[in-house]
Amino acid sequence: MTAKTDRLAPRYPIYVANRAEQPNESLEVHDKYSGELATRTALADRAAIERAIAAAVKATPAMRKFAPFERQKVLEHCVKRFTERQEELAVALCIEAGKPIKDSRGEVSRLIDTFKVAAEEAVRMPGEVMNLEISARAKGYRGFTKRVPIGPVSLITPFNFPLNLVAHKVAPAIAAGCPFVLKPSERTPIGALVMGEILAETSLPEGAFSIVPCDIKDVAPFIEDPRFKLLSFTGSGKVGWDLKARAGAKKVVLELGGNAACIVDADQGGRLDHVVERIAFGGFYQSGQSCISVQRILVHESLLGALREKLVARVRSFVAGDPKDEATFIGPMIDEAAAKRLQGWIDSAKANGAKVLVGGGRKGAMLEPTVLENVPHGEPVYAEEAFGPVVLLEPFSSFDAALATVNESHYGLQAGVFSNDLTHTMRAWDELDVGGVIINDVPSFRVDNMPYGGVKGSGLGREGIRWAMEDMTEVRLMVVRDA
Ligand code: NAD
Repeated sequence: MTAKTDRLAPRYPIYVANRAEQPNESLEVHDKYSGELATRTALADRAAIERAIAAAVKATPAMRKFAPFERQKVLEHCVKRFTERQEELAVALCIEAGKPIKDSRGEVSRLIDTFKVAAEEAVRMPGEVMNLEISARAKGYRGFTKRVPIGPVSLITPFNFPLNLVAHKVAPAIAAGCPFVLKPSERTPIGALVMGEILAETSLPEGAFSIVPCDIKDVAPFIEDPRFKLLSFTGSGKVGWDLKARAGAKKVVLELGGNAACIVDADQGGRLDHVVERIAFGGFYQSGQSCISVQRILVHESLLGALREKLVARVRSFVAGDPKDEATFIGPMIDEAAAKRLQGWIDSAKANGAKVLVGGGRKGAMLEPTVLENVPHGEPVYAEEAFGPVVLLEPFSSFDAALATVNESHYGLQAGVFSNDLTHTMRAWDELDVGGVIINDVPSFRVDNMPYGGVKGSGLGREGIRWAMEDMTEVRLMVVRDA
């Protein structure tokens, strides 16, 4: 059975200051599996981006006055409309990102979760009453804090979760009361534009949102314009750190990549099959194109043989092919260049002593799911973000050594630890230099209300609605002296 592909419109408008516009049809969106032209949208030019920013600035006072319950209504409307349009959104995602249809449906259901959480958080922004009487000179003084929206925010998103990662910026911006201008990935703009269509149905204040795909040569205002009070970027480290250096005085949140590790400790009792199933999912879901995809599997030496055998068998059983086919688990990488880059890394590791246990081949953008062993730590496929269907197997002899190996990385997003040893799990939480430690599951686990983000090369700050809302608001203090 194949997902219905006739759901895409022939063209999609962009949104400038809440309104649909179709100034051109310059951005072609291709089916990432077949390569065929799927639909078109527009590229915003500098003038349109300027109108979007000016409108966001103008909308700032109205957004501040737009009450929490009104923001909540907007978010609830989105939940309702996403739910009604679930299959259409999933098919669009499947085509534009090459994401297997089952995973695309999963992303749409997470999109709905993310907006639901934001609808709840919109009416919950906490303040504080403080006792300031810490010394004689402060006797009779009290402090009160509240959070106020920071102002216009600039949002830039990547290709790999074109709905839910857009949601992780747009939904908290609305909940916090910030006008926003979003630049979705030019490779996967459709999901964001359907979100724009739905937001245009709401009572958001005039000018509060713009969704403007654009050419990279026109992207500078998103980064450099001082009228934006925050830049929230999700994407590669290479781009993200450069943008931070150019962002000036505005706050910057960076959600970047990683080469996530998963530790499989010595005693797995009878659950090794389950561990392998989770690792196979975490390493190869969406062809490994997730920032928390399992890349490095560190397994206790006593389990290496059994885990290797089971994992290789599981990987051989994957169905690869057209993401529109209901049975497909492994679809294409985003483009042939990405698959070629990773194949080059695999070949380099092979040339330097790595063993290919399964996979290693490529046809166009379809890279075979690959398991490598004995990979030198200096190889790019080990030290850098693979961002594709490749996992590396490596034994360890002591838990100390496993922790040290995880921390060798210049990234630090999430780590997974399968362990029945409470001391080991607590040590992992204490000692792993990452944003999140997932015990008894893979690093690839994320639900949409948890704080999410990395340290070291993996970024700055956290998303997960509440945390994004903190970044999108400032604490404002009022001090009252007893009269
Ligand atoms: P990318 O860095 O190539 O692009 C991300 C966004 O930045 C896109 O919208 C792109 O158009 C834009 N961009 C590219 N070059 C730019 C430039 N010079 N100036 C301004 N904007 C520019 O990333 P990608 O290939 O779309 O996505 C994959 C990367 O994103 C991976 O590294 C992945 O780990 C990371 N990612 C991180 C998270 C997270 O939450 N930490 C989530 C998903 C993806």
